[in-house]
Amino acid sequence: MKLTKKVLDELRVEPGSSAHLERRGTAHTQTDWLRAGTGDQSDSSRKLLAHEDLAQFVGELEVAQERLWASGTHALLIVLQALDAAGKDGTIKHVMSGVNPQGCRVVAFKQPSPVEAAHDFLWRASAAMPSHGEITIFNRSYYEDVLVVRVHPERLPQRHGNAGASEPQHFWEHRFEDINAFEHHLHRNNTRIVKIFLHLSRDEQRRRFLDRLDDPDKRWKFSTGDLVERGFWDSYQSAYEEAITQTSTPWAPWYVVPADHKYELRALVGGIVVDAIDQLDLRAPAVDPSQTDALDAARRTLMSES
Ligand code: AMP
Ligand code: MG
Repeated sequence: MKLTKKVLDELRVEPGSSAHLERRGTAHTQTDWLRAGTGDQSDSSRKLLAHEDLAQFVGELEVAQERLWASGTHALLIVLQALDAAGKDGTIKHVMSGVNPQGCRVVAFKQPSPVEAAHDFLWRASAAMPSHGEITIFNRSYYEDVLVVRVHPERLPQRHGNAGASEPQHFWEHRFEDINAFEHHLHRNNTRIVKIFLHLSRDEQRRRFLDRLDDPDKRWKFSTGDLVERGFWDSYQSAYEEAITQTSTPWAPWYVVPADHKYELRALVGGIVVDAIDQLDLRAPAVDPSQTDALDAARRTLMSES
């Protein structure tokens, strides 16, 4: 199963146009993509359908990844960004569940270490890029440097001479330019980049935080800092709005995926990733005709052993 062009177009932020996060739904896409048509549109029925669709995408992804690995010509970078509790970890766990671990890596970006902070903001990302044949998922990314750092400019490394003051607008514009150039460079060197923002509502974040606090087995997932960041909700929304608008490009588009329903979110992400690999139109490498005789001889040798 594939996501239709209509759904993909709806989710993708058209390069050069605004993200319009406030107009985009956090619950469902407008285009009906579930193999629904079943009439029953209750949450539980949609959940079941999304679950089945996800299983299909997981299977497709397994095949697509094998093609990527076998051809060895392209790399795939998936950038996952979202506010806390939007479902990044669960998405990675479920969407990548069929993928051969040999060709896949997940890299989580935390607060920069002293060594990382002593380099330019793209340095640690550059070192973590997938090699050809691989899929790498960034669980957060260099985008934090125009998101959390924009909301809290005092977290900029000291070398910027920053003592808690806001940076001028052109400082951030230069970062967007640098990100666009960096991603263009990667694209030209056969790294395909898919950026996904999990778009969560404020109410749903509250419910998920409460879920974590109410369940002794989930309490570890909550940190009091999460509540502090929630207090900056509007600043984060505007930081995301501007970052996505400025950096959705033909070579590295952003997809905004409604995140209030985990099962639908995961299936949509699965569909987006499958589509990204399909676009590469990869084939298993053809064996050089000059090798045919040698391979046939190898086969005869093996057969004669029995
Ligand atoms: P988590 O993903 O919940 O493990 O949290 C990682 C934390 O690291 C988040 O609060 C991010 O905002 C923060 N973080 C990631 N990258 C940066 C960065 N470049 N500068 C400051 N904080 C960051
Ligand atoms: Mg967290």
